[in-house]
Amino acid sequence: MLSIGIEGTAHTVGIGLVDESCNILANEFAIYSPAKGGIHPREAANFHAENVVPLIRRALEAASADFRDVDLIAFSQGPGLGPCLRTVATAARALSLSLGVPILGVNHCVAHLEIGRKTTGCRDPVLLYVSGGNTQVIAFSNKRYRVFGETLDIGIGNLLDKFGREIGLTFPCGPKVEELASSGNDLLDLPYSVMGMDVAFSGMLTAALQLRSSGAGDSDVCYSLQETAFSMLTEVSERAMAHIDKDEILLGGGVARNKRLQSMVSKMAGDRGAEMFVPAGELCVDNGAMIAWTGILMHDSGIRMSIPETIVKQRFRTDGVDVDWL
Ligand code: AMP
Ligand code: MG
Repeated sequence: MLSIGIEGTAHTVGIGLVDESCNILANEFAIYSPAKGGIHPREAANFHAENVVPLIRRALEAASADFRDVDLIAFSQGPGLGPCLRTVATAARALSLSLGVPILGVNHCVAHLEIGRKTTGCRDPVLLYVSGGNTQVIAFSNKRYRVFGETLDIGIGNLLDKFGREIGLTFPCGPKVEELASSGNDLLDLPYSVMGMDVAFSGMLTAALQLRSSGAGDSDVCYSLQETAFSMLTEVSERAMAHIDKDEILLGGGVARNKRLQSMVSKMAGDRGAEMFVPAGELCVDNGAMIAWTGILMHDSGIRMSIPETIVKQRFRTDGVDVDWL
């Protein structure tokens, strides 16, 4: 079984080719990076439209495969930006109809969890999903992946990207903020907003920009942003693990690549006799392989979709998916 996964919820358009044993035969992607300002959904969608076919060809070449070898088309059905989702859904439908193979719409957040579970070997983790637009604490309970906590405003990656943009960094700013933070050491006061298992970051963004305009150095502000925001995420992850009695924590999403976040979460996990798992960097960020693999899990469990059922869902909730494969 060869599955092709098409990811395109936001800034990244990605194509993955994966087989039934989760061998990743190709995982090609291109990232839309606006010259200035944030992501404009229509421009990102145009970027995806231009890149999706060349990326499919590149992926097939990398896997030494042919269109005729493909048995399943999986695509990111949501959540995400409407124009981007519609663009990749259209490509997926065209491919499915022309090749005569089944098509499945995949929940993007569930795909982060499934690729992490498969490639790191954890079984029943709490997932701390930290990406540009999303920040959620997710775990399996009673037939579905449930969201135990989430951001009430912007995603953690968005906080880092927006702050970075204001200080002149280019997208994606997370890695550059991490680099600057490594030479900071003065922990400045920023709002710590944890409400139960939910978090909020937009007040911290405003406060960080104010600190900077009153003379604080970039390294110290980046350091303080990371220390404060990552402590919040570690706290809510620990609370979820304690409440639902899980002893594995899986990281996912682009911000999961951050070494300081990894060290905080790993310390927390170690202190409570639990274990942290982090997928390879190219599987943390948005990618086609995770979509292809989740498509295989869905297909194997008997799920099928007609073309009308592949309508995109901008607000597709993690707990809106029947997890028949577990
Ligand atoms: P995703 O939306 O999952 O593709 O992840 C993209 C987000 O991850 C962007 O907001 C990036 O700034 C962020 N990111 C990538 N690498 C790092 C890093 N090393 N530290 C913090 N954030 C990162
Ligand atoms: Mg993502």
